[in-house]
Amino acid sequence: MIVYAAIVPHATALLIESPERAEQFPTVGPAITLIAQHLYARQPDTLVFVSSHKAQAHQSCTIDHMPLPVMHMETQTGYERAELFPPDIETSAILRAASESSGEFMYANTDALDESVLVSLALLSKHLPKTRALSITTAHRDLRFHFTVGTLLEDVLTMLPARYAVLATGDLAQVPNLDASAHRARLNALQFDREFLHAVTDQRYDEALELGRARRKSVTQCLLDPAAVLFGALWSHRATPELLGYESPTGTGVAVVEFAFGV
Ligand SMILES: [Zn+2]
Repeated sequence: MIVYAAIVPHATALLIESPERAEQFPTVGPAITLIAQHLYARQPDTLVFVSSHKAQAHQSCTIDHMPLPVMHMETQTGYERAELFPPDIETSAILRAASESSGEFMYANTDALDESVLVSLALLSKHLPKTRALSITTAHRDLRFHFTVGTLLEDVLTMLPARYAVLATGDLAQVPNLDASAHRARLNALQFDREFLHAVTDQRYDEALELGRARRKSVTQCLLDPAAVLFGALWSHRATPELLGYESPTGTGVAVVEFAFGV
């Protein structure tokens, strides 16, 4: 069963513990801490991360079988890797079987690791020593496809007795640079973020996806496909969204949205 869901950012800057970072992310930083606490309260057996950065397959989403390393936070530019999160092989196998019987949605994959999920993993897993991880990478397909993958994911996870937290990981609009000429792009990006998050918190998921579809060429963002999967997974749940934090200090919008499930 799905016991928890959230949208969390990729931004590597979040990993750095510094006063400057606290200033840059005054709402997102505390929001992530809150999510880590709420995850602890819900005690998920498996964290399901949906991301879009690893080399994407054209027709299918992929499921990673690799153990996921948790990164340690550092104040320097680099960060080292520590404990491994064991992969949830059983659920992977069940998802694979389910997708084979219902269409070509997902297949198991064991090669490259999606580094981008590690930021969320490091920040959210501090209190979850026994939790396993399942990492799903989105495909080069449209948002409707990813929404359908989400409904399939929900079908499977709902049948299983284990407790799952589904986390769509990614960032909102990105502006290539912040010089004066990028002013219009910056305003566009901020407007996109505002409209998208507004639609999400109103549970107008169709509208959020439509917005993403319409602006896909002009606004770069890595959250859209994972968010589409999440919306599919949430479609038949009465989970209430709450925007816990949003900032765009460096030209990339980062947001934290929690979907509260009734007990
Ligand atoms: Zn990203």
